[in-house]
Amino acid sequence: MSGTAMVEVRGVHKRFGRLEVLRGIDLDVRPGTVTVVLGPSGSGKSTLLRAVNHLEKLDRGYVRVDGELIGYRQAGGRLRELPEREVLRQRTRLGFVFQNFHLFPHLTVLENLVEAPVGALGVPREEARARARELLARVGLADKADAYPRRLSGGQQQRVAIARALALEPKVLLFDEPTSALDPELVGEVLDVIKDLARTGTTMIVVTHELGFAREVADTVVFLDGGVVVEQGPPAQVLDAPRHERTRAFLGKAL
Ligand code: ADP
Ligand code: MG
Repeated sequence: MSGTAMVEVRGVHKRFGRLEVLRGIDLDVRPGTVTVVLGPSGSGKSTLLRAVNHLEKLDRGYVRVDGELIGYRQAGGRLRELPEREVLRQRTRLGFVFQNFHLFPHLTVLENLVEAPVGALGVPREEARARARELLARVGLADKADAYPRRLSGGQQQRVAIARALALEPKVLLFDEPTSALDPELVGEVLDVIKDLARTGTTMIVVTHELGFAREVADTVVFLDGGVVVEQGPPAQVLDAPRHERTRAFLGKAL
C-alpha cells in the first residue's frame, strides 16, 4: 500500500459473462483531491465507481479506502468477501451520488438527510436534523427542508442528493454523471455545489462529460476506454495535450 492514497484501486478486473468490463484498473486518489473520470459510453466508468463501494464484486484486484479493504478481508493470503452488514457499514462512509438522484420520494427533503445518519450511524435524531439544516444551507436549499422531492427541480433534487451523501460525513464522494439527467440550464447549480466541495478539500471521484468542469476542478483526469485507463494526469495534460490517439479521438468528439 502506498500509504498516501485515500482511494487505492489495484489490478481490478470485472466481467459480466463474456464481457470483460474492467481489465486491470489501477488508480490512486490522494486525500482532498478531485479525480474526473472520462470515457465513452460502455467503457466501464459506472462499473468502476460501483467497484469502489462494492456494489460490484471484483473478479481480481482490490480497493482500499483510507487504508481499509472494501468488501473483502484478507484470509490466509486470499480475499474473502465481508458479511453484508460489514459492507453496509463501509458504504456509509462512501457517499454515492447517482445520475437520477434516487431520493426517497415519501420523505421530506430534511428527512431524506436524517434517515441514514439516524438509521445507520445511530446519530440522535435532533442532532441529525440540525446537521441536515446546515447541509441544506450549504447547497442553497435551506428553504426546501419541508418540501417533498417531487416538488423540486432536477437541479434542486441533485443538490439534496449531494447534501444527503454529505450527511454521513463520507471519506470520499463518488459521482456518477451527476448532471447528465438535468436540463442544460440546471447543470451549473449542481456543478457549483461540487466545486464548492472541491474548494473545501472533499475527496471526490466524478464521472462526467463536462470538460469545462474537469479543466477547472480536477486535480487528475482519467480517460477510460475498453475497461483500461488509457491515460491519466493533470487536466492540462490529458485534455489539452493528450498523448494517446484514443483520448484525442474521444475529446475531438466530446468538444
Ligand atoms: P459506462 O458507465 O462507461 O457507460 P458501464 O460501466 O455502465 O459503462 O458498462 C460497461 C459495460 O458493461 C457495458 O457494455 C454494459 O452494458 C456492461 N454492463 C454493466 N453492468 C452490467 C450488468 N450488471 N450485467 C451485464 N452487463 C453489464
Ligand atoms: Mg455509466
